[in-house]
Amino acid sequence: MITRMSTLFLRTLREDPADAEVPSHKLLVRAGYVRRIAPGIYSWLPLGLRVLRKIEEVVRQEMDAIGGQEIHLPALLPKEPYDATNRWTEYGPTMFRLKDRKGAEYALGPTHEELFALTVKGEYSSYKDYPVVLYQIQTKYRDEERPRAGILRGREFVMKDSYSFDLDDEGLTSAYQLHRDAYTRIFDRLGLNYVIVSATSGAMGGSASEEFLAECETGEDTFVRSTESGFAANVEAVVTPAPPAEPIEGKPAAAVHHTPNTPTIETLVDFLNANTDRKFTAADTLKNVLVKTRQPGAEEWELLAVGVPGDREVDMKRLEASLEPAEVALLEESDFTANPFLVKGYIGPKALQDNGVRYLVDPRVVTGTAWVTGADKTDHHVLDLVCGRDFTPDGTIEAAEVREGDPSPDGKGTLVAARGIEIGHIFQLGRKYADAFGLDALGQDGKPKRITMGSYGVGVSRLVAVIAEQSHDEQGLVWPREVAPADVHVVIAGKDESIWERGEAIAAELDAAGVQVILDDRTVSPGVKFADSELLGVPTILVVGKGLTRGVVEVRDRRSGDRAEVEVDNAVAHVV
Ligand code: ATP
Ligand code: MG
Ligand code: MG
Ligand code: MG
Repeated sequence: MITRMSTLFLRTLREDPADAEVPSHKLLVRAGYVRRIAPGIYSWLPLGLRVLRKIEEVVRQEMDAIGGQEIHLPALLPKEPYDATNRWTEYGPTMFRLKDRKGAEYALGPTHEELFALTVKGEYSSYKDYPVVLYQIQTKYRDEERPRAGILRGREFVMKDSYSFDLDDEGLTSAYQLHRDAYTRIFDRLGLNYVIVSATSGAMGGSASEEFLAECETGEDTFVRSTESGFAANVEAVVTPAPPAEPIEGKPAAAVHHTPNTPTIETLVDFLNANTDRKFTAADTLKNVLVKTRQPGAEEWELLAVGVPGDREVDMKRLEASLEPAEVALLEESDFTANPFLVKGYIGPKALQDNGVRYLVDPRVVTGTAWVTGADKTDHHVLDLVCGRDFTPDGTIEAAEVREGDPSPDGKGTLVAARGIEIGHIFQLGRKYADAFGLDALGQDGKPKRITMGSYGVGVSRLVAVIAEQSHDEQGLVWPREVAPADVHVVIAGKDESIWERGEAIAAELDAAGVQVILDDRTVSPGVKFADSELLGVPTILVVGKGLTRGVVEVRDRRSGDRAEVEVDNAVAHVV
């Protein structure tokens, strides 16, 4: 069906929206693809929805190709399964919560590990049933602290999430590899420039985990990549043969603050402002500052918070919940800027205690920095706990400080820092969720066998913005053919009846040939039509105008800007 601009539900804007900072946000709003409803909440208008659906289709095809089976779970979820895994608490303020009329508690699902595990438990019982991969393309809700850049970080967004269920570790490894390959195909088909880096497993729990980062100046993630090879890694994840972390001796505190009661963020901020040359506000995150607390009368200091360079700062608000009446001490900044080691991976609270970790910003959501008491109980290390590896407190943990300019660990080239946007994430979860719900299969030997899980996400709606971010110019969007809202944008440029007739005829022929056409049949000036055609970003623009008197139409390649005159009778064959 031909999409007619004269009736299309679309109004393009000449001006950038006031709240937009990044190109994709500006252009997607100007081109009428999305409209803002509330912070991080957007509506999809016809052309935007088309792009979204096409991306979904690419994702669906590649998921089906690895044997994934599509199902659809609700977004409105009861509290109990999240209690069973403790994520009702762990997820913190990012989870949207609500109550029904009877007072029962619900969440709007930020991710669905619990419900998928329960779904499989409900249907499968024998080892013969496994393995299985299930997926959905579904709306997720996260009350992001800083929704930004339009649909790039939404509070409501579309994710493809899949979950693998296997009887053993080999099965999990192979499901993980299949997803890794599928993701590579998806992002290649979408024409993206991206890297795969090892990652922390964040709030999911589990071990092996990799992120797919689309390279973008406006991205929030920092990674390093080699100037010469394909090597890339998360800043905190590069493990070169590392020296043991520098011990940080229990240096005298630079300043001590006594808090008779539970300190509030405000008192903490006042304290920091009085004792450092930096100015904090309650909304800030702590950077390059270590704060330790000590219960009145107690000998031992406890790490309260540590901030490190980069984007892993500690959330001030999060501190408030963890503060006890305490003495708060601020240590020298330099101790820590010199040792920007980060915790990686999931470490259960018990494992932490057993291994002498004094305090972690959040013991389960391990994206902070650990304060580790060394085996001799005197040295304090801030360490990078490398995921998968066994944790030992005696300095044997491999830690790596990554700097731009370091040689690449593969010996090829030098590391340079780059910014990225996370477009996909794959996790080997292991048995955390199966343990929580007793997800077992009856084995061949008649004994129950615990299932091991993986979870895998693609930011489907985010991809619309990421593609736009990587593929645009001054004039507007430049869609790769695979996801463009149409194949050809036919512009009728002129008033003559013959031009209109020819434009209509060409559009009809293209349509009949299975080409998706937008036809600009509005009675506005050619200049407005050209500007809109560039803004909308369809890969081929076909101009039917004055050239018709010479028997030609103009075919423009949106990406390269190349223009060619084509004989009108060959026009359809030329672009099909
Ligand atoms: P980020 O680091 O950007 O906050 P995440 O690590 O919290 O993402 P995951 O839980 O791994 O996200 O979810 C899987 C995928 O969902 C991510 O790789 C990303 O592409 C997408 N995604 C996550 N949060 C958002 C959001 N707020 N808006 C749009 N897409 C998102
Ligand atoms: Mg997130
Ligand atoms: Mg992330
Ligand atoms: Mg992630």
